[in-house]
Amino acid sequence: MSRAYDQLRFKKAVTRDGIEVDLMLNAGLLVDLPQLDLAGADGIGLFRTEFQFMVSDFMPRLEQQTDLYRKAILAAGDRPVTFRTLDLGGDKILPYIDPVPEENPAIGWRAIRIGLDRPGLMRYQLRALVAAGAGRHLRVMFPMVTTVEEMVASRALFDREIERAKTLGRELPAKVEVGVMLETPSLAWQVISVCDHADFVSVGANDLMQFFFAADRDNARVSDRYDPLSPPALSILSFIAENCRQNNTPVSVCGEIAGRPLEAACLVALGFHTLSMSATGIGPVKSTLMALNAAELRELILPNIKVTSRLS
Ligand code: PEP
Ligand code: MG
Repeated sequence: MSRAYDQLRFKKAVTRDGIEVDLMLNAGLLVDLPQLDLAGADGIGLFRTEFQFMVSDFMPRLEQQTDLYRKAILAAGDRPVTFRTLDLGGDKILPYIDPVPEENPAIGWRAIRIGLDRPGLMRYQLRALVAAGAGRHLRVMFPMVTTVEEMVASRALFDREIERAKTLGRELPAKVEVGVMLETPSLAWQVISVCDHADFVSVGANDLMQFFFAADRDNARVSDRYDPLSPPALSILSFIAENCRQNNTPVSVCGEIAGRPLEAACLVALGFHTLSMSATGIGPVKSTLMALNAAELRELILPNIKVTSRLS
């Protein structure tokens, strides 16, 4: 964290009109954990569990997975840690497994699709998460969910691991929250229905924007072609925030836009009060939010987008 933001480290991000915003860290490896305190993060909003698998020469064993997750929980202390189950496929390749050749990997066999087709792998990971969360607050979320049924099936796998731990007499997590990543436009249109099965929603804006604008995030020719502050983007984000608010489901954003000051200000104005980002984003975003009047910015934005209210 740059020295310019050092003095903000112990300050809460509160806008000038009094909105408290939780600024969380995106992490994935042990080396990221010191950033929790160095950057003054309010917790880990996105723990990318696939990183451990990607930097390893072989599939991490149950104990190794459990160990990493537990270290993350301990490093965060009283602050929440949200683990995302494996988001493999697409741009995330394992060196020890031959990739399945696909024409369009970003919209191919990836993330929760692999998890549900190979439930053994996913259950193994969920087992490690449940073990790591023993006696603690455990938050888990699923990536690239496109239908409510996928969320229901994923949650059922998690519940089975809780039941298994119970049957074996293991110590259970003191508190459990199971959430969904909203990173496909189809799920935005089912946000109310998926909230019936999710304790929280985390918007994966990197993928949501690539699918929304049909612009490959890994293709430099097109990845900057869209504007996440343009009316259609703000409109879908506002739709998600508003529907979650009406449903009393906590909602956050964890894509790259959450770590850019101007975009972060707009997200807060739209109603997102939890943002998760890389460590370097926390100081600049905090400084911007502390100078922001969110209600005023909201008044500027709303006439330019169509805010769709809850579907009946
Ligand atoms: C996202 O898609 O916004 C996200 C946070 O997940 P990832 O970048 O790992 O796909
Ligand atoms: Mg994603």
